[in-house]
Amino acid sequence: MSEDIHGYRPILAALLTDPAQLALDLDRAEHLVGQMEDTLDAAGWRITPVQRADAAGPRPTVFGPTTTLILRQLVPGVYVRRYTVLGRGGTVWAEMPCCDRQARLPLETHTEFRVQCASCRLDYTVVLVDENDGGYTASFQVTDDGTPIIARRRRGARPLG
Ligand SMILES: [Zn+2]
Repeated sequence: MSEDIHGYRPILAALLTDPAQLALDLDRAEHLVGQMEDTLDAAGWRITPVQRADAAGPRPTVFGPTTTLILRQLVPGVYVRRYTVLGRGGTVWAEMPCCDRQARLPLETHTEFRVQCASCRLDYTVVLVDENDGGYTASFQVTDDGTPIIARRRRGARPLG
């Protein structure tokens, strides 16, 4: 998953550091947010973003299933929807965004797949979306080559050295 899903952290930290609220210092606030996440996680809860049509801020670029794309448009972060056809053994074939190849994916709607086009050298994360009409579309998101290493605060970590 993208690290964007933790975009609520600074919002909570701002609330906790608000002088009219608890007026915590930032380190303490961030630590507390981390503790809340751990507590929710341990209890089986997960915070997920709501997709709002009227959300403020830049919207991700999304190309529809019938859009023919050129490679230059397939930059990291871009979403491309593609039709799929059912395959054998609980799989679907999804058209690739970049060329006429197809990716064969297990028919699982709650799994994020990493797909690479060996021909175009593009990486994607893909989720299957149930269209509730018996069909599925594949939502491709272009990712950077290789897996980025994301620096994060180590909660409860002892200082190094
Ligand atoms: Zn390709």
